[in-house]
Amino acid sequence: SNAVTQTENLTAAIQRIDANHHWHPFTDTAALNSKGARVIVRGEGVYVWDSEGNRIIDGMAGLWCVNMGYGRKELIDAAKQQLDELPYYNHFFQTTTTPAAVLAQEIASVTPGDLNHIFFANSGSEAVDTLIRMIRHYWAVEGKPEKNVLIGRKNAYHGSTIGGTSLGGMGAMHKQGGPYLPNIEHIDQPYWYGEAGDLDEEAFGLKAARALEEKILEVGPEKVAAFIGEPIQGAGGVIVPPASYWPEIQRICRKYDILLAADEVICGFGRTGSWFGSQTFGIEPDLMSMAKGLSSGYMPISAVAVGDRVANCLIEKGGEFFHGFTYSGHPVAAAVAVANIRLMKQEKVVDYVADDIGPYFQQQLRAVLADQPLTGHIEGAGLVAGIALVKDREAKQFFADEGTVGTLCRDHCFENGLIMRAVGDRMVLSPPLVISRKEVDELCAKVRKCFDLTLDSVRTQGL
Ligand code: PLP
Repeated sequence: SNAVTQTENLTAAIQRIDANHHWHPFTDTAALNSKGARVIVRGEGVYVWDSEGNRIIDGMAGLWCVNMGYGRKELIDAAKQQLDELPYYNHFFQTTTTPAAVLAQEIASVTPGDLNHIFFANSGSEAVDTLIRMIRHYWAVEGKPEKNVLIGRKNAYHGSTIGGTSLGGMGAMHKQGGPYLPNIEHIDQPYWYGEAGDLDEEAFGLKAARALEEKILEVGPEKVAAFIGEPIQGAGGVIVPPASYWPEIQRICRKYDILLAADEVICGFGRTGSWFGSQTFGIEPDLMSMAKGLSSGYMPISAVAVGDRVANCLIEKGGEFFHGFTYSGHPVAAAVAVANIRLMKQEKVVDYVADDIGPYFQQQLRAVLADQPLTGHIEGAGLVAGIALVKDREAKQFFADEGTVGTLCRDHCFENGLIMRAVGDRMVLSPPLVISRKEVDELCAKVRKCFDLTLDSVRTQGL
């Protein structure tokens, strides 16, 4: 019929324009252009629709961010109202706006400890860059400018600005666009399943944390400013550290007077069943970066929450902090984030993740994959999970050409109405926090189906 033809034409037209002019982030553009990008046109709850009318369950909540699901009227209305009232004003030069002030208070109401001072930016990367500058400036104001080495981890993701890439530990990223910032060191990630050998989780967690102490001693404690890490490494493949890891990291930081910063861009706002991943792992960082779930991805906004130690020093002794962005605390984005936090509180969504849907999701995922031969190991917390695909689960043998099978699996998901991301040969899930049990069942059934299809492909291709 006409309607179908029109739909087909629309898709083809957008794909053509997109291929001609739109350079996609983190994409092999030539490969994408040869087949055309899928055009996503609409969202509702945990689903999105493409321009061909296919309904897709979004197992990634966009990019780990649409925590309250698509189509939330409360968030949309907050944006509309703020656009009507005051679409923009800045917070430089002695002015503030109501949404930014109220949002700072709302964030402080959910952050742990004394993380009560909120600096705004627009993306996770900018929040991380803010952390870097703030931490180094703090030590300089304290009279220790030589204490400026930051320690991060291999396979960590902290964004793709120069600062974020430098602090992150992604090998592929470091190979492009450098040289990167000096005075940044990386220790191994706490990847128990992949790297522990015979050690049990507890022992491995302690060993991985002690790599920090070794690095501090190698660099010299008087030179180390901070350790920065994601409570659970997200983009690195959902690497959940053993319970022993973070408390030991915190102990080591305190011992050598080194600041501890948590990059909560993915873990923040309920993902792991607490407001912040730091709470799930029992630590109280000195600073935290956050983005994504702060506005459920409806508007670009990020923040750094700063504890009294750093904030009081910089505010009382630091004078002007020469740092900020035109859109720091953008009123429309801030209004949406205020509405988002209030909605999360009203719907008790963090409790829902902790006590109900998180455990259900983790249990169903394990049940549905229990006898699936590709499934080597599942790790996760709350509503985030990572699954290692393996050639032989008994022998714990990985595939030779890392990433091939993951990509195959991702493509099967894509073709079967499921968005699930591949990180090498790890498949990762991070659905909206408002997902229902019925939707979890559907999600898990699709995961199983796509894993089975992947197994067929692996056998056909002799991988
Ligand atoms: N930090 C972490 C932990 C992230 O996961 C990300 C993005 O995925 C970032 C920083 C960068 O955020 P953005 O893409 O908003 O710059």
